[in-house]
Amino acid sequence: MTFTPHGHHLIGGKQVSGEERFRSAPATGDAFEFSAGSPDLVAQACAAADAAFAGFAATSREERARLLDTIADEIDARGAEITEIGCAETGLPEARLQGERGRTTGQLRLFAAHIRDGDYLDRRHDPALPERQPMPRPDLRMMQRPVGPIAVFGASNFPLAFSTAGGDTAAALAAGCPVVVKGHGAHPGTGEVVGDAIVAALAKLDMDAGIFSLVQGGSRAVGEALVTDPRIKAVGFTGSLGGGRALYDLCARRPEPIPFFGELGSVNPMFVLPKAVASRAADLGAGWAASLAMGVGQFCTNPGIAIVIDGPDADAFVAAATEGLRQVAAQPMLTDGMADAYRTGARRVAEGAGVKSLLTSACEGRSAAPYLFEVTAGDWLHNETLSEEVFGSLGLVIRVSDAAEMLQVAQSFKGQLTATLQMDDGDIELARDLLPVLERMAGRVLANGFPTGVEVCDAMVHGGPYPASTNFGATSVGTLSIRRFLRPVCYQNLPEALLPADLTSL
Ligand code: NAP
Repeated sequence: MTFTPHGHHLIGGKQVSGEERFRSAPATGDAFEFSAGSPDLVAQACAAADAAFAGFAATSREERARLLDTIADEIDARGAEITEIGCAETGLPEARLQGERGRTTGQLRLFAAHIRDGDYLDRRHDPALPERQPMPRPDLRMMQRPVGPIAVFGASNFPLAFSTAGGDTAAALAAGCPVVVKGHGAHPGTGEVVGDAIVAALAKLDMDAGIFSLVQGGSRAVGEALVTDPRIKAVGFTGSLGGGRALYDLCARRPEPIPFFGELGSVNPMFVLPKAVASRAADLGAGWAASLAMGVGQFCTNPGIAIVIDGPDADAFVAAATEGLRQVAAQPMLTDGMADAYRTGARRVAEGAGVKSLLTSACEGRSAAPYLFEVTAGDWLHNETLSEEVFGSLGLVIRVSDAAEMLQVAQSFKGQLTATLQMDDGDIELARDLLPVLERMAGRVLANGFPTGVEVCDAMVHGGPYPASTNFGATSVGTLSIRRFLRPVCYQNLPEALLPADLTSL
């Protein structure tokens, strides 16, 4: 390892340290010491963000777009360090870190273009009607304004694209909201280098350093202090259902409750329709196995459950999936805790009534290999715990007796990020019956593909009804995600001199 992190928090542009320290736990290479976060450090970061808010909210769209572009450039300039420490901390391969960096900088630049365009402001104008009877109408203009400082909890499974300068941070900065990031303990060094890039971009553009702070973790008290700080006005979170729900509840219990945008997880059911499985069972099984095993299954869009009508075609699908997963070598998971949780989850599934093990893994420590199970619809419908996410490359096949039972199983799922249809032309009637159920269940419905690989674009929705997310009206990926950090303000009869520049041309 040639790169050594400085180990400080970044608060209002300064490197700051507290009294407590923690050591990183990289998958490979050297561990480093980092200053641990504390409620006091969180308060300092929130104070800096609050002080910066009014000025940042008043910046032009062009100024913020330049900031996003400059952050992307500064991240690229640190590409070698990011890849080096990112690979060591997460155990992910170099190509993944490089690809994810491209996604991260692409996301920042996409938001720059999005706010330059200005449509996101959703500007509306109802001109005055002074002669209207019985009451005249005042001049009314509306547009979206930033909500205030945002807390961002970086994800363990995306050290770049969903972390320090990831989608939540990009969306908040684009909106005009300062950001306080709570670093994830799985990759503190990666977070630090990316944080340095944001600090450097702010300095280069002579912008208020309070716009961005990074406070490393170390104890639960850090996250709790962050979401309950009265200066924080919304939270972006990616992580577990348990952690997300605890923080969501804290947000709701505040004297001033705030929105908590938690992206919590999903089993992403895949419905393999009869004509499709009759014509390409082997391809579908192999494709599913590859999608399940990608990135050691550590994707929230991992399609963990396949539903197929029982019979010889289902047998062929299951055989191909089993064979595909059997070929997958053991690989390290992101943290020891995740590997433990994966094995505990696999045990829970294996012990479920009627569950048959098709492939088991004998891995230890941080290492993980795929599991595959199957169950009948009857047993599935009586065991709610089987629908809980097991984070990792674990697949469960639900064999249903017919189309009606497939529909019944579909109706039993809780909120999901995605739902997939594997279908041929002859499946259209059944697909049409399933669609209203899938629309109600999921944020994204797809046909003849796999849900891993979330495009960052205008039409993407990465969210869904609870427990996929805590806010079904929102997405955490794509340009629409900026709406989480905006609120509409109506300006009634304000003189032109007082109106925001974006409203004067209406
Ligand atoms: P996590 O345990 O929910 O932690 C996410 C972040 O929230 C961390 O910064 C954590 O801080 C903080 N946090 C969690 N619970 C908290 C609480 N009660 N009070 C204050 N802060 C809290 O998620 P993770 O570490 O990323 O991964 C653990 C599990 O989450 C995985 O095994 C997997 O099941 C799931 N996961 C799901 C997704 C998804 O997209 N669906 C993504 C990643 C992980 P500390 O680390 O300091 O506790």
